[in-house]
Amino acid sequence: MITVQSVPVGALQVNCYMLKDSNTGFIAVVDPGDNCTALKKLVENEKENIKYILLTHGHFDHIGYAQALKEQTNAKLVISKADEPLLSDNNLNLSMAFFGTGVPKTVADITLEDNDTLMLGDSKVTFISTPGHTKGSGCYIIDNNIFTGDTLMRLSMGRTDFPTGSDDDMKASLKRLAALQENYNVYPGHGDYSTLNYEKNCNPYL
Ligand SMILES: [Zn+2]
Repeated sequence: MITVQSVPVGALQVNCYMLKDSNTGFIAVVDPGDNCTALKKLVENEKENIKYILLTHGHFDHIGYAQALKEQTNAKLVISKADEPLLSDNNLNLSMAFFGTGVPKTVADITLEDNDTLMLGDSKVTFISTPGHTKGSGCYIIDNNIFTGDTLMRLSMGRTDFPTGSDDDMKASLKRLAALQENYNVYPGHGDYSTLNYEKNCNPYL
């Protein structure tokens, strides 16, 4: 079992999530796009327990604080193999376009492909590849929760007009999510929490 805490960070209000495995107290942080009080506190109090930084994709607003968090904690930085190049390309990760400046040099420790898994303490984390918003966008499934980044959002979906994005890929990825049987809690990269059944019934893109 994991517990989920959500913290919006940065100018674009990315949902950063802190996941804690109940049995071991081990923590994963999803998409630390920027620093915030809650993250600072986490580092102060739980430094040793932060094991992973899980990135849903390589855009600057999701990765901005990842490297600094990794250096403060020794957590492993995790991203898809296909989006790894975005970590060091400030045009692909859009930081130049939005801010006119780059993100700190960010280096992955683990790169994932479709259906790869990790263990956060006793909790299994499964990565599923959902390209479309970026080529390497993906979702993390843990227990009955899915962290969808900028692929699936409440009653919406991510843009496909950025570099490496693809409308056709997005359609296929949303189809794949719609085919999942379990009514997952949906934790998107921006905006409100949802459930997969609600999205299947009400999201016009799904
Ligand atoms: Zn994005």
